Amino acid sequence: MVLVTRTTPIEKALKRTLGLSLFLVDLPNPAIEVTPIEKHGIHYSKTCDVFISDLKLTRENLLGEEDKGWYLILDTLNPERMSFSAASGGLGLLAIKTAVEYAKQRNVFGVPIGSHQALQFPLAEAKAKIEAARLLNYKAACLYDKGQPCGAEANMAKVAAVEAGTHAVYHAMQALGGYGYAVEYDVERWWREVNLIRLAPVTHQMALAFVGEHVLGLPKSY
Ligand SMILES: Cc1cc2nc3c(=O)[nH]c(=O)nc-3n(C[C@H](O)[C@H](O)[C@H](O)COP(=O)(O)OP(=O)(O)OC[C@H]3O[C@@H](n4cnc5c(N)ncnc54)[C@H](O)[C@@H]3O)c2cc1C
Repeated sequence: MVLVTRTTPIEKALKRTLGLSLFLVDLPNPAIEVTPIEKHGIHYSKTCDVFISDLKLTRENLLGEEDKGWYLILDTLNPERMSFSAASGGLGLLAIKTAVEYAKQRNVFGVPIGSHQALQFPLAEAKAKIEAARLLNYKAACLYDKGQPCGAEANMAKVAAVEAGTHAVYHAMQALGGYGYAVEYDVERWWREVNLIRLAPVTHQMALAFVGEHVLGLPKSY
């Protein structure tokens, strides 16, 4: 595992972001207790409680420069946001595709349910929102690839993508009626998965706090 730890006490560090170091640690390790947490979704990825006591590390375990670990992590935060935005849009598109296929072949009162605007418009709106969020995410990725600041775009893309993705899966579930709730059609799983993106890798509120402070220039709110 990559362990992030403070190696210079905060009162002695020149700034809060200095004094953190990264270490590569082999697992399993007797000094580290790892207990999986039961979750609502994304069962393909384990999330765990981790307790560390009396772990001994040497310079050989150090990744990068001592005390400058935060700057290495920083490099991963924006691309992580972008990949979660892509996941949100991807789940949304999958849900729309499933809903559209279902709505074309499911007939009620002699017509396919997809011929009703109440069913069609939310799916069309979801598609438009996802495509817009995707463009913003591409902009963030393009800036990142060029080595330019991309925090504003990465956070705004995440906000837009999670709204678009949850909107799409919500309406897909509705379009499938009772089957939307059945495990067989996967929509219920996508609903559980897409909602994670409201919470991780950064919560919706913290992404908005970034936009409020760094894009709109409002006072820091936390
Ligand atoms: C499945 C899963 C996998 C995860 N994987 C990882 C991982 O690999 N690595 C990792 O580091 N973390 C991981 N996380 C942790 C995730 O990043 C945090 O759960 C998330 O950032 C929120 O932190 P918290 O749980 O401490 O919530 P808290 O900080 O306690 O916040 C709780 C709620 O209050 C809101 N809130 C808090 N402060 C403010 C404020 N000032 N203004 C407005 N709203 C506020 C938050 O937005 C949130 O909705 C994972 C989480 C989940 C669910």
